[in-house]
Amino acid sequence: MTATISSLGSQVVDWRREIHRHPELGFQEKRTSALVERELRGAGIETSRVAGTGVVGVLRGSRPGKTIALRADMDALPLDERSGEPFSSEVPGVMHACGHDAHTAMLLGAAVSLAAECDRLAGTLKFFFQPAEEGPGGAKPMIEAGVMRAPQVDAVAMIHVSPAYEAGVVALRSGPMTASCDDFDLEIQGRGGHGAYPHAGVDTIPIAAEIVGALQRIASREIDPLASVVVSIGTIQGGYRRNITADTTLLTGTIRCLDESVRTKIPERIERIAAGICRAHRASYKFALDPGYPSVYNDSALVADIERIARATPQVPAVVAIPAPTMGAEDFAYFAREAPGCYIRLGVGRPGHSDEPMLHSPEFKLDEAALPSGVALLRALAHHLA
Ligand SMILES: [Zn+2]
Ligand SMILES: [Zn+2]
Repeated sequence: MTATISSLGSQVVDWRREIHRHPELGFQEKRTSALVERELRGAGIETSRVAGTGVVGVLRGSRPGKTIALRADMDALPLDERSGEPFSSEVPGVMHACGHDAHTAMLLGAAVSLAAECDRLAGTLKFFFQPAEEGPGGAKPMIEAGVMRAPQVDAVAMIHVSPAYEAGVVALRSGPMTASCDDFDLEIQGRGGHGAYPHAGVDTIPIAAEIVGALQRIASREIDPLASVVVSIGTIQGGYRRNITADTTLLTGTIRCLDESVRTKIPERIERIAAGICRAHRASYKFALDPGYPSVYNDSALVADIERIARATPQVPAVVAIPAPTMGAEDFAYFAREAPGCYIRLGVGRPGHSDEPMLHSPEFKLDEAALPSGVALLRALAHHLA
């Protein structure tokens, strides 16, 4: 078995590098999903296509048991790689800077090796290879395609790599794990005119400035300080030249929350503030909300089970607690709404490098010594959660 595991280890590294060389953006993961499908089928796992480039593998154990889903995302980011790795991206402007290449390779390694152990497995394992996590989101269309049903998934888990921990370290947290992410456009409509005669028009620039400032008071004055809310304006576009008053100004922004009951209140508050300020200054507005990923909530009973399993996995050097959630977003949230879920962090930092480039950096690289730990943990979850 040891020999099998170590040859599996080099196979996982090979897959990861192959996927890393050929990164694909969301819903374009053709080459990656073909590789996944080929390897799963080669191991005798039945596969189906969902949500375009998504692949689901199903493996049935020899004894009755629960249905456990393990999820990996497959998409890359629109970046030019500057990691210096010998297996860097061969696709200009596209890079695996979020570690999804490693997620896919680890889950593939776990699935292929588990297929040879069906006689020792209970229940049903579902392997979700998901497209487009970085947007517009592949989890929701996979759920709509029925992946959580027939048989109904009892628990769902995922691994995300993190350079903040040393290679192989598993980091866990119960409760909120990532933030919800909703985007909005706010267009302020006034009347154009000459910059020297502002009274004759309705200048949207000072109105926009007032709104940007006032929106910051949602977090500071309207929401419990112990709840977490971010309202950020990312862009302002308006005006033509220095002596023309801007007839329209467009603000675009994003809202991040950890609590659904807070999340639902924010759009109404943005609109109330915009409406009041526009009315005060003779302008009108158009507000459009683009709801995004919900917050990932980690189920405490499942986290406790996973912690116990991780501590009993020899390839995992340490299990640590994550002290606080992040305001980043993850569409695993949709799976974790359908069944108890757990987002697991796996350290990929090199020992002694506390200033590693972050995820989404063109310089991001990971310590492949973490890959066997991730595979071992996924295998252990398959054996012990079902
Ligand atoms: Zn990412
Ligand atoms: Zn990611």
